[in-house]
Amino acid sequence: MSAKDKKIMVIGGGIAGLTAAWELSRFNIDVELIEKTPFLGGYAIQYCCKATDECRQCGACTVEAMLKNVVNEPKIKVHLATEVEKINNSGRFSVDLKKSSYKPDFATEGVIRGYSKNNSPLHVIVDKEKCEGNPDAVPEGAVELDTMGFSGKLDVDAVILASGFQPFDAEQKGTYGYKKFPNVVTGMDLERIIRENATVVRPSDGKTAQKIAFIQCVGSRDERLGHLWCSQVCCPYALRMAERIKHKNADAEITVFYMDIQNVGKDYAGFYEKCKTEFRFVRNIPVDVFPMENDSLSMRYMNEEDGLCINEEFDLVVLSVGIVPGPDNSNMSDLFDVGLNEDGFFTGIDKLNSTSTLKDGIFLAGTVAGPKDIAASMAHAGQAASEVIKHLGVS
Ligand SMILES: Cc1cc2nc3c(=O)[nH]c(=O)nc-3n(C[C@H](O)[C@H](O)[C@H](O)COP(=O)(O)OP(=O)(O)OC[C@H]3O[C@@H](n4cnc5c(N)ncnc54)[C@H](O)[C@@H]3O)c2cc1C
Ligand code: SF4
Ligand code: SF4
Repeated sequence: MSAKDKKIMVIGGGIAGLTAAWELSRFNIDVELIEKTPFLGGYAIQYCCKATDECRQCGACTVEAMLKNVVNEPKIKVHLATEVEKINNSGRFSVDLKKSSYKPDFATEGVIRGYSKNNSPLHVIVDKEKCEGNPDAVPEGAVELDTMGFSGKLDVDAVILASGFQPFDAEQKGTYGYKKFPNVVTGMDLERIIRENATVVRPSDGKTAQKIAFIQCVGSRDERLGHLWCSQVCCPYALRMAERIKHKNADAEITVFYMDIQNVGKDYAGFYEKCKTEFRFVRNIPVDVFPMENDSLSMRYMNEEDGLCINEEFDLVVLSVGIVPGPDNSNMSDLFDVGLNEDGFFTGIDKLNSTSTLKDGIFLAGTVAGPKDIAASMAHAGQAASEVIKHLGVS
């Protein structure tokens, strides 16, 4: 059967949704890509390059490349600032879409920036009041969020859910003082700090951070939170960023507080061995962070050798937050009649085919189905596209 007249809806424009849409378009299939924010790329488009003298294979640049593919592909129609309202399944899927209710909470001067068609920067005004007081802050061609979004009905032959994850909210671990002490940041914040600065600076005073602590497993492998899973990405991203910091500032002293180091990815064992020669690894997770007068932070932890408690001061504490289920999972599970597992991620039919669901015609791609890095999300999305093609019976 030919792919002509077949149409697939992909929900979520992160790396998984972009990859699934792109793979389907290679088979001449039309794709409607629905993204609830005003931008494509999901979390991964915000990450820094972690190269030192060599590429560290963090995958961040593959997202930009895939985004360019998608926005230049006529078979893929992108609907930004749009979300699903209702779905009707009578043979094909009839999907009602509405303007999204998404409201960003991080709009500096009322404008947020991201990517649009042809990968040129898109500036979106999200707070008109803030802009009126400061017209210089509004770049030429900025679009108002209120004018974005699509309302209407689309009929499609299958749906891929690729609505991703959310980073663990570090404020839930109150004793670390995130958002209370300026020099406690998350891995997500550090991605941005490294992207914007040549060296890592302290948010409190803009001075170079010399003594830096990473606390691993924040929000993952935590019985109290009921988050028993390993997020898989926070060891690699923390070590890659630590390496990058050391590369730019050889005097930086880095300590990694950990339970286990997740061994993922090609050459990871060799990379970890190298890290052990450059950073201090302490197999203990501190539970409290205390502020000091100079905005430094003190942490208490147990010395592995003698079991005694040590207090130590750091310039910057990085909380390596993990992956938790996306905020819309429960609503989407009801809308699409697809089950979630006990952790709150969507569940495929089995381990070998984790992209097909028990609901005929509904597929999963990326972290919507559990923690994955960029490469694994892309591979999963590729598998989802293959399953869709099998489902459609096209060649
Ligand atoms: C701090 C941190 C650092 C990381 N660093 C790395 C790294 O260096 N390298 C690496 O390989 N991996 C890294 N990861 C993992 C990486 O972020 C994920 O693998 C990747 O973002 C997964 O892509 P995704 O498309 O599944 O999800 P997302 O990036 O979450 O994208 C999902 C998209 O769906 C949209 N969406 C959500 N709900 C809806 C809805 N209802 N309707 C429409 N659209 C919706 C979202 O707005 C978003 O655009 C890191 C993770 C964290 C937490
Ligand atoms: S963004 Fe990551 S994958 Fe790309 S060049 Fe930099 S280190 Fe390598
Ligand atoms: S990847 Fe590392 S830091 Fe993240 S949950 Fe797993 S063991 Fe903990």
